[in-house]
Amino acid sequence: MKKPSIGVSSCLGGVKCRYDGGSNPVDQLQTLVQQGEAVMICPEVIGGLQTPRTPAEIVGGDGFAVWQNQAKVITKTGEDVTESFKAGAIKAFAELQEAGVTTVVLKAKSPSCGCGLIYDGSFSGVKITGVGVATAYFINQGLMVLSDEDWLKKTTEGASIHGA
Ligand code: SF4
Repeated sequence: MKKPSIGVSSCLGGVKCRYDGGSNPVDQLQTLVQQGEAVMICPEVIGGLQTPRTPAEIVGGDGFAVWQNQAKVITKTGEDVTESFKAGAIKAFAELQEAGVTTVVLKAKSPSCGCGLIYDGSFSGVKITGVGVATAYFINQGLMVLSDEDWLKKTTEGASIHGA
């Protein structure tokens, strides 16, 4: 078995762990997972949330603001799931560390894995600049983070890398 070189959001690897029970498979990332070159993490599931689950958005800022206790993760029905998101980020990071990876490719726009753009907390489809809760934690811990969109561009023409 090869040692994984990157971490990826589980839903990008084809796992049906999205809030609605779906996935966001990216062929090239699925191939890396199958070849043992990528390890999958889903911070929300690792944090103890069920699938399917009520959608959640960050209210009051982005993932960095959550870690500074200036924003919260709230579901569409008003439940505060901030602690589950934070616990999942910490556990997911531990799994990435154990696997020895320092680069992660995360699902764009997610309140956990978002990178570059996230939804604004109004559940109206409006996006703001920012990152998800897990993404902020990973960047704070020194990981290199790319969105799936950036990674796909990078594999063809080069793209920006967020984080260290
Ligand atoms: S938390 Fe991340 S890995 Fe899990 S479903 Fe959401 S975007 Fe995918």
